Amino acid sequence: MFFKIVNFIPNDCLENIFQIDYNNLYKNGKRVIFIDLDNTLIPYDQIYINDKIEVLFEEIRSYGLEIVIISNNKKSRIEAFLNGYNIPFVYKATKPLNRGFKKALNIYSDITRKEVIVIGDQIITDVLGAKRMGIDVILVKPIKKNTEKWYTKVLRYFEKKALNKIKKYDITIYSNIISVIGEHN
Ligand SMILES: [Mg+2]
Repeated sequence: MFFKIVNFIPNDCLENIFQIDYNNLYKNGKRVIFIDLDNTLIPYDQIYINDKIEVLFEEIRSYGLEIVIISNNKKSRIEAFLNGYNIPFVYKATKPLNRGFKKALNIYSDITRKEVIVIGDQIITDVLGAKRMGIDVILVKPIKKNTEKWYTKVLRYFEKKALNKIKKYDITIYSNIISVIGEHN
């Protein structure tokens, strides 16, 4: 189950979080977004939320979607990022394990997994984690890879292996992903 190839394939792949059609997600039945922090919202070398993201969050909420930040990083990192901005979050989520996703699901007791969309920049944490939970997921291109921590670089190695598996499984799916995130991922 853990290593099934389909669990490594995102439902969609986009350049960044601003390219996502959130209104369409709502129309397709999504009600809550579980969004990753590092290299999805901001790169590792930035600390705070910015105006562009705040405007996007307001737009997303205006469509009727709730937002939860779900990050493997520590509590202080996410609190610093939010800088007082009021949004629920799950820290040390241990993606791709179920624990963090379950915690996030518990925030909204009346929500089903089909009503959730995960957004993140890593196949091995965000995509695999979401898929194992039966949750749809959008992969975005990492904002800035050269400032990634050593443990993320390790995960990128396995990501490359997963992409090679996807290439053998379905060249069209592979090409679609690579066209967005780049060959040397
Ligand atoms: Mg990330």
